Amino acid sequence: MVWRWPRALRGGGLDVVVYERDPAMTTRGIATGSARARNQGYRIHIDMNGNAALAACLPPEVFDLALRTSAGSRYAAGLVAGYTDQLQQIMAQEFPSTQEDRDSFIFAVDRFAFRQSLLTGLDDTIQFGRTLAGYQVDEAGRVRVEFSDGSSDEADLLIGADGVGSTVRQQLLPHATLKDLGIRCIYGRMWLNEETDKLLSEDFDRGFSWIADQTGYGAAFGSVRLRTPVEGTADYLMTVC
Ligand SMILES: Cc1cc2nc3c(=O)[nH]c(=O)nc-3n(C[C@H](O)[C@H](O)[C@H](O)COP(=O)(O)OP(=O)(O)OC[C@H]3O[C@@H](n4cnc5c(N)ncnc54)[C@H](O)[C@@H]3O)c2cc1C
Repeated sequence: MVWRWPRALRGGGLDVVVYERDPAMTTRGIATGSARARNQGYRIHIDMNGNAALAACLPPEVFDLALRTSAGSRYAAGLVAGYTDQLQQIMAQEFPSTQEDRDSFIFAVDRFAFRQSLLTGLDDTIQFGRTLAGYQVDEAGRVRVEFSDGSSDEADLLIGADGVGSTVRQQLLPHATLKDLGIRCIYGRMWLNEETDKLLSEDFDRGFSWIADQTGYGAAFGSVRLRTPVEGTADYLMTVC
């Protein structure tokens, strides 16, 4: 879950608690005794709408932290582009290229760094290590949530933001099952340093590029060059097959 909406709800005067299955973490998102409670994946791209939503929901200092720990660009404009397997460009979208936009716009984030920023100041809102097992609604419409450790809580409203295997969805909409489309991806990353920088073409370093052939096989690349150093990670090229 991206920790954006609890802050917005709280900002609207609502009493909010987030129950998260992941083990206990500090505000920096680091689990006790380990650098990461769960691998959060790598890079994620954020567009104009995402930037507007973040600016509307986050206190300025948290937006600023997310910006400072996001990925910047070496080049005048960011790029999302698609290529044939012969590397012929078939689509390209450039991002705002003014210096002002480059300084104030979150193009892409490392998920771990982003999550750390968004967790700032939410200590009293998020309870880690709480796995929802199910819920019941009473006649007055109040919800009783039950956790796997036998504990429970009550609320006026339950928001099931528990991902693709959602326990809430399975109970609320049992007919809405998952359909496996047979698509598989392998994600990885290559650290960017003096040696590997030389291997990277400018287009593949400007944002997100994907390459596909006619048979459904493809690859994608997205660089993450952090604006400021982030503990626990470094600059890298995300790679997908
Ligand atoms: C490898 C990978 C790469 C991706 N790359 C991109 C990308 O580049 N761009 C993009 O837009 N999208 C990407 N996605 C998709 C994106 O991650 C998901 O669409 C998004 O995270 C879904 O958000 P969510 O809040 O619905 O669920 P999630 O992010 O899965 O959050 C659900 C949360 O609920 C918690 N939870 C689950 N069950 C329970 C329970 N019973 N009780 C309590 N807590 C529970 C989980 O621990 C988790 O924190 C990628 C996904 C993967 C796997």
